[in-house]
Amino acid sequence: MKHIIKIDDEKCRGCTNCVRVCPVKDANITDTSSDKPKVRIDSNKCISCGACLRACPTGARFYSDDTERFFDDLESGEPIALIVAPAFKENFENWRSILAWLKTKGAFAIIDVSLGIEICTWAHIRYIERYNPTALIPQPCPPIAQYIEKHCPEMQSDLSPVYSPIQCTSIYLKKVLKLPEKISALTPCPAKTIEFEETNFVSYNVTFKKLLAYLTAHDISIPDAIFEFDNLAAVCSNACTMASDYIKSVSGIGCISFIYSTIKVDKVKSSENVYRYLDSVSRKEATDFPVLLDALNCIGGCSNGPGGNLEKSYTQQMTCKLNDGAIESNIERANLFSVIDNMLQLTDYIKPSGFS
Ligand code: SF4
Ligand code: SF4
Repeated sequence: MKHIIKIDDEKCRGCTNCVRVCPVKDANITDTSSDKPKVRIDSNKCISCGACLRACPTGARFYSDDTERFFDDLESGEPIALIVAPAFKENFENWRSILAWLKTKGAFAIIDVSLGIEICTWAHIRYIERYNPTALIPQPCPPIAQYIEKHCPEMQSDLSPVYSPIQCTSIYLKKVLKLPEKISALTPCPAKTIEFEETNFVSYNVTFKKLLAYLTAHDISIPDAIFEFDNLAAVCSNACTMASDYIKSVSGIGCISFIYSTIKVDKVKSSENVYRYLDSVSRKEATDFPVLLDALNCIGGCSNGPGGNLEKSYTQQMTCKLNDGAIESNIERANLFSVIDNMLQLTDYIKPSGFS
């Protein structure tokens, strides 16, 4: 497994800010063997949450992604499809122009991951119907999955076996559309690299922050341009349209709770409490564990990921409120899911562990 968060020893002043913000006990090791104390990372315990990236005043904590390799390969004529996390729209006011520019650089198809959100929601609903699990934590968030795998192994069976939305998108492209070309993902999350190793369908994790750094370093100004995501087969264009509606109104998890009103859904909102909540669940102290738990590392959700372009933490509340429009679109969605049943294989979107 790749180590995502790295340290430049020379820049470390030993201030221990990283230790204070880290949600994992012992993920940082203080080295006081010299007169200049240093804090190092224990990669076996680190969950790549990125909290120390923001807290470190010297830039000693950093991450690398695949941005340079992506542009080098594009430059050399490698055909690469781009799948774009929905957070891109929140992170860049001129997101359409940036994607249009990437197309001129050679990205031959640019696809909205809202497609994968729809597939992921459909797969969860069908999985719950078939296997009736007592608890599930969907996995769009690699640090949460890493925390459970490394620090709460007794909860591992609660991790949903359904692939994340971005993985569902790549699976659809590779298995259904038989896309031979490489896929690059545009994400706000350095830790997605860990997730991509599971299937190897995504060859590059290009984070928003590094994309912006690349544009700045190469003195590239993005011209205004019109852009639309590429259309795919019928099911995709339907799903994309509907997904963009429901992203505005409710999350995918909210959608599941609406269609299945007996499923108790809950959200844990901030990195200050999500890991302590998981600890209390693993110690069996929490008695309110829902059937579906939407647990995210970043305050405000993926838009505020450590590889994103939003520097400020913001505390917008993520709720499952449903308005009238959402109710209508959820009824349509139940119909859409019946159509998807005939077009996709559920087993493609479920990890092998889901059937053991
Ligand atoms: S990335 Fe997160 S878990 Fe890893 S050392 Fe930094 S704060 Fe701790
Ligand atoms: S926050 Fe940065 S400078 Fe301070 S101890 Fe951690 S790595 Fe070193």
